[in-house]
Amino acid sequence: KAKPLTDLAIANAAVMQPIGDIATNAGIPEEAVELYGRYKAKIDVTKLPVAKSFGKVVLVTATSPTPAGEGKSTVTVGLADALARLGQKSMIALREPSLGPVMGVKGGAAGGGYAQVLPMEEINLHFNGDIHAITTANNALSAMIDNHLHQGNALQIDPRRITWKRALDMNDRALRHVTIGLGGPGQGIPREDGFDITVASEIMAVFCLATSLTDLKERLSEMVIGYTYGREAVTVRDLGVQGALTLLLKEAFKPNLVQTIEGTPALIHGGPFANIAHGCNSLMATNTARQLADIVVTEAGFGSDLGAEKFMDIKARKGGFAPDAVVVVTTIRALKMHGGVAKTELGETNVQAVQKGIVNLEKHVETVRAFGVQPVIALNRFITDSQTELDFVLHWCKENGVRAALTDVWGHGGAGGEDLAKNVLELLEEPNNFAPLYDVEQPVIDKITTIVQKVYGGKGIVLTEKAKKDLLQIEKNGWDILPICMAKTQYSFSDDPKKLGRPDDFVITIREINPKLGAGFLVCLTGDIMTMPGLPKVPAALNMDIDKDGNAVGLM
Ligand code: ADP
Repeated sequence: KAKPLTDLAIANAAVMQPIGDIATNAGIPEEAVELYGRYKAKIDVTKLPVAKSFGKVVLVTATSPTPAGEGKSTVTVGLADALARLGQKSMIALREPSLGPVMGVKGGAAGGGYAQVLPMEEINLHFNGDIHAITTANNALSAMIDNHLHQGNALQIDPRRITWKRALDMNDRALRHVTIGLGGPGQGIPREDGFDITVASEIMAVFCLATSLTDLKERLSEMVIGYTYGREAVTVRDLGVQGALTLLLKEAFKPNLVQTIEGTPALIHGGPFANIAHGCNSLMATNTARQLADIVVTEAGFGSDLGAEKFMDIKARKGGFAPDAVVVVTTIRALKMHGGVAKTELGETNVQAVQKGIVNLEKHVETVRAFGVQPVIALNRFITDSQTELDFVLHWCKENGVRAALTDVWGHGGAGGEDLAKNVLELLEEPNNFAPLYDVEQPVIDKITTIVQKVYGGKGIVLTEKAKKDLLQIEKNGWDILPICMAKTQYSFSDDPKKLGRPDDFVITIREINPKLGAGFLVCLTGDIMTMPGLPKVPAALNMDIDKDGNAVGLM
């Protein structure tokens, strides 16, 4: 039997339309299109016609991720293609891939099979320079802070209490803790520092939640970089560099337009991780897509406990819109892993394991419904799935009153997603009672406990001594009325990545609470979660190459 083509081979064989044609079809006037080569463009949103109406939003989320892969981006792309095939004006809003996972575990994030965004190679590598611009803005701020210390420290910043870290768009565990300023009086003030991956930088979050350049500058100026010797917060505004930081981001801030293999327009912009940040593409991209299309298909990272929860409680609340339908992607392979099967055994039919693992899907369905929105299950078909396993899941969905569609957009593009698209269209006709889970005015402890109990299914929370101190500081400053951005492992509902399926008898440990005033949320670090990931034993980079004609090899 012939081996299926790789994502890269399929992407390379696809014929792209000039991006100007894609823009015209999407209703974007020529003067708003800034070409980045033949197949990519940035959109100057100030040149778009005033919107008469806004499209509906379909959010794609998934069951808790396993190393077997779920295919959220693949289904997002395929669903938008399927909606277009059914005559709908659809548009995609996606996050930009970070080089950390591209070089590390994932090897790419532009969909897969016949449901991909193109040019996949360029989207996966340095896409229009946006993430580099964010890295540069982040590190420009670090340089300004250290220069301020060196030049006399007029603000009396306590070098031991600087919370702003440097950033790099790479998985590099050796940079988590560093000492800087060594070498004598001419080399700056020695202090401990560290690096976060760029997608966890507050600048990435600000970039993704700002609604205009003015709003971007205002939010950047509110970011807290540390505390004085007198324990007063020091902000970017105190340093006076918000103008320079905004200037560094001005081109990056324009959403990027690309196309799917089937010619559906896609805006790919901003890319915070969903485990250590808020996990959704930029509000600029989502709002622009809502302005241009009748249906926007967008993805939030990892499972509904992470990306979708933050989409609803942070992004939709800020953006003033509701997700009109939610697609929960799952696979037989993932459910088997949640049922206790090892990755090496996934090829064998095992209905009992699917039955055992389906509790994970059950919890994600409950979570989506807790927000007053109805889910549709996209059962993303793999060639290894057996009919009895697929039938079991579809039957379970029917018995539990959940809409479901067997989806094969990976193998067939939009044609493989028509059933899913029809289900989504029906759902969009139904009333929607969306509401965020908690009120921002509630005490911080109540907000976190609500997420843990209603979304994770846990018993409650404990705070470390450090987290208790953080909370006191937050309350003293009046920052406690902000929404919560949980930083938690993606693999489990609990803070222990090994507890798969649907654990229930657990308590979440809050290690630290970090105020992010520019982004407008409080980040709660749980368990062992890190804001600078490491590379795996065999990084995806080892399979990458470039041939003598300049073509990429080994991007997935
Ligand atoms: P996620 O967004 O959930 O991380 P992706 O959509 O990026 O997942 O898919 C991860 C990988 O799995 C990609 O390489 C993609 O080609 C592959 N994949 C997705 N769906 C299928 C499928 N149905 N069959 C085979 N491979 C798939």
